[in-house]
Amino acid sequence: MCSAQIGQTRGILDILVVEDEHKLANAISEGLIRNGYRVTVAFSGESALEHLRDHNFDLILLDIMLPRMGGLETLRELRRDGFKMPVLVLTSKGSVDDRVRGLDAGADDYLVKPFAFPELLARVRALHRRATPAVASVLQLADLRLDLSGRTVTRADQVVELTEREFDLVEYLLLNSGSVVSREMVARDVWKTNLRYTSIDNVIDVHIARIRKKIDDPWPVKLLHTVRGVGFVMRIEGAKK
Ligand code: CA
Repeated sequence: MCSAQIGQTRGILDILVVEDEHKLANAISEGLIRNGYRVTVAFSGESALEHLRDHNFDLILLDIMLPRMGGLETLRELRRDGFKMPVLVLTSKGSVDDRVRGLDAGADDYLVKPFAFPELLARVRALHRRATPAVASVLQLADLRLDLSGRTVTRADQVVELTEREFDLVEYLLLNSGSVVSREMVARDVWKTNLRYTSIDNVIDVHIARIRKKIDDPWPVKLLHTVRGVGFVMRIEGAKK
């Protein structure tokens, strides 16, 4: 590694999925695992509370319609027990009442079934962002600085404007700085897709080209490099004369 990296290392998020419909529970769980989360499934509220006693979860997906101890009751119970992690309530009713009662009982957000999986992922990410205290964390390589809490980028103290996606990509490359990341890794970890198709590779290449223009072109020391046939790497390389 060329330069010291300060900042938070992003651990894997632990999610508890509470859903009594086994098929749906498994589908959600598989989808989340594919997207890099660690998942525990509980098929009842009682079993959810048991899991909570044994394990620290970062987030809970909680179905409202559960047999015996219902979702709302489970939610009240776990809040009473002092668990403060974000809870995303899954409701099939979609009625205003249900949502209001869910939020009253201590839910942070709700999602109406049936839902599109990308929406679930977006809610999970948003809830987690909200729950994570904004600690000043900075990724740095040479004079390139990425402020993760403010989502700002500077090179040699000059502000560099990046789009959301470009920022995520630079963050990912910096977290892996010194090691080559493949397009497949970028597709999986930044674009959150496991689908392999040429167009995603093209999209990635276009983003890389734009990022290079912004963070490298104006400066003699190049940081973002293409490794032919393999992928990309962030490391310090001197000016080529
Ligand atoms: Ca259910």
